Amino acid sequence: MVKAYLISTGTELLLGSTLDTNSIFLSRKLAEIGVKVIGKSVVGDNPDSIAMALRMGLAAADMVITTGGLGPTRDDLTKEIACEVAGVDMKLIEAEEERLRDYFQRRHRAMPEINLKQAMFPEQATIITNHFGTAPGMYLPLKNNQVIICLPGPPREAEPMYENYVKDLLIKTYNLTDRRSASRIIRIFGPGESQVEEMLQEVMDQAHNYNLALLASEGEINVRVTAEGKDYNESVVILTKVTEQISQIMGKSVFGYDDDTLSAVVGKLLDNRNRSLAVAESCTGGFLGKMITDIPGSSKYFWGGVITYSNQAKENLLGVRSATLQEYGAVSRETALEMAWGVKRLAGTDIGISITGIAGPEGGSEEKPVGLVYIALVGDNLEQVREMHFVGNRNGIRTLSAKSALDLLRLQLL
Ligand code: AMP
Ligand code: MG
Repeated sequence: MVKAYLISTGTELLLGSTLDTNSIFLSRKLAEIGVKVIGKSVVGDNPDSIAMALRMGLAAADMVITTGGLGPTRDDLTKEIACEVAGVDMKLIEAEEERLRDYFQRRHRAMPEINLKQAMFPEQATIITNHFGTAPGMYLPLKNNQVIICLPGPPREAEPMYENYVKDLLIKTYNLTDRRSASRIIRIFGPGESQVEEMLQEVMDQAHNYNLALLASEGEINVRVTAEGKDYNESVVILTKVTEQISQIMGKSVFGYDDDTLSAVVGKLLDNRNRSLAVAESCTGGFLGKMITDIPGSSKYFWGGVITYSNQAKENLLGVRSATLQEYGAVSRETALEMAWGVKRLAGTDIGISITGIAGPEGGSEEKPVGLVYIALVGDNLEQVREMHFVGNRNGIRTLSAKSALDLLRLQLL
């Protein structure tokens, strides 16, 4: 199996100010062409550290891919050090110099001489065009079929360079086939992790040419199915069969696949069914509205919402009766229902949703503990209240509340 080692360079990555997404992107992409990432390093803009990481990578892998440090300034050193480690010299490449001068001329700016180092490459290197910045990448073949690949740091430059050039170069160099395995994430909301595991036990036990991995995050359970057939087509057939099997077992709790999110799925349902929505939030403080409006185009179905945190806001804005608040409390079935009807009336939408609960850490009682949340969903011929008991910290309870509200709506719209 062809092996890769990844190096992310940049002091900002060590300081925690920038997240190293490049190596994650590359890991995913390399897996698709059957290249195994055997390790990675994150190093600062320091010549010795970069050289050390390069030597380590070359000792163990067929290819080393670096990102970052291709800029014009003095702390951008990756390409220089890669050449040093590889024992090759660079020279000024005329075509690259021209391209750079042209780049600056078009912007009516003088080119600083220091930029010329971006036009320096070893003879044997393939220069990788950067359509989104000045720093070209480098594909440097070494002896014994090894290669060093240098890409720039900004993901919006590095990612298209991989997709448009590097991938094909790798496939050619290492005689790879474009994907053998096929995988998909099945996204589930509702049942807990152990419950999903129990329900899928049989599918797991039967696995021989596929495998399942369960990952729980913020109330969602993601089941990653990876099928390994003898070629890609067979993998897809296996994947389709296993996906169907799992979807049948899990039923409506499957809300989507791969990059689907609850808010996108709910948005699509509202849009398709031509229904409008308004929300009234207490303990989530606007989080539900935020999640709904994460989706571009949500204005088509989302009227908006109100954050009614105090009793007074619940009364004044939503018309919740003070008798209800006094008798049952702000966190109750009754209040949740009046909030939902109140916001529906206020907005004139088809559907109203409300959330009221105790997010903690204080404010709980024996009768109404932290994590008790009521979610109400109302519309024409529709009135539902759910009593939920969430476990977690304040943020976790609020996230679960908002997601559960979305899921309740999703199930209703199906
Ligand atoms: P550089 O090419 O090293 O000058 O990087 C320029 C910018 O790219 C940095 O300031 C970061 O914002 C971004 N960047 C660099 N490395 C990475 C990485 N590994 N993942 C995500 N962004 C990065
Ligand atoms: Mg840098």
